[in-house]
Amino acid sequence: MRSITVRRTAMIGLLALATCAPVAQADDAAPGGGGTSVSSMNAAPAAPRPAAAQATPAPAPASVSETQTVKLTRSQTKSVQRRARVRPDGALGSRTRTAIKRYQGQRRLVRTGRPNLQTLRAMKLRFAETIAAQMAAKQRAVAPIAGYVFPIQGPWRFGAGGTYFGERGGAHEGIDLFATCGTPLVAASAGTIKSVAWDARGGNYVVLTDTPSGEDQVYMHMKSPSPLKVGDPVTAGTPVGAVGDTGNADGCHLHLEIWTSPGYYTGGRPRDPKPDLAAWGGTPSR
Ligand SMILES: [Zn+2]
Repeated sequence: MRSITVRRTAMIGLLALATCAPVAQADDAAPGGGGTSVSSMNAAPAAPRPAAAQATPAPAPASVSETQTVKLTRSQTKSVQRRARVRPDGALGSRTRTAIKRYQGQRRLVRTGRPNLQTLRAMKLRFAETIAAQMAAKQRAVAPIAGYVFPIQGPWRFGAGGTYFGERGGAHEGIDLFATCGTPLVAASAGTIKSVAWDARGGNYVVLTDTPSGEDQVYMHMKSPSPLKVGDPVTAGTPVGAVGDTGNADGCHLHLEIWTSPGYYTGGRPRDPKPDLAAWGGTPSR
């Protein structure tokens, strides 16, 4: 029944291409067909595509300090102690620090006498990369680039195949970010409301224009119509609505689009929003 609605809607026009709904994959001419289910959201994300014509450069991956002391669990400390040839009691005492410093000296590492990434990697400890990833995520989460905030004000995660930009044979012009219905949505940057509308596929959506990068941001499937009006100015963090599943959406999510200047259906074209997410302070919950 739903797919009949979709087919009819797809004929209406351009908006039909804009949105997402895994149930409608057959209509989107996705390679391989076969709808995906959002219950398999842990599938490996597709490789991000390079963003073209970005006014704001994509952020470099968060770099973490190699020599910053890291906090270890007792069992991790014991592993470090074994590598440094000191009795493994799980405590970072003076003898352990001396042993670590000796180890660091032998390997020509920075001699801090304390566990850090550089040392854990030299010791070939498995948990080094886990700690590195945690540090990078934390750094990204606390350091969005100035003027931006993450639009979903709560836990979120990526979806399965077919929910990334450019998938479904190029018909998916945004990225789907899954979150509990009702999670507040805010403007990712300053701008002006260009459109507040409803569409059979995008549901309740808003378009933000006059952003710092000159690009338009589109927030779709919102739970209710945005309280904002066309022409309203917003700043980063202004509430625009809430995560929902209105329109043709399978599961509560924000379908986010970024359109190059001059914007959404005014001469711009959609590009991959994924490189911006970390710079906006976004870290998926898992
Ligand atoms: Zn989508």
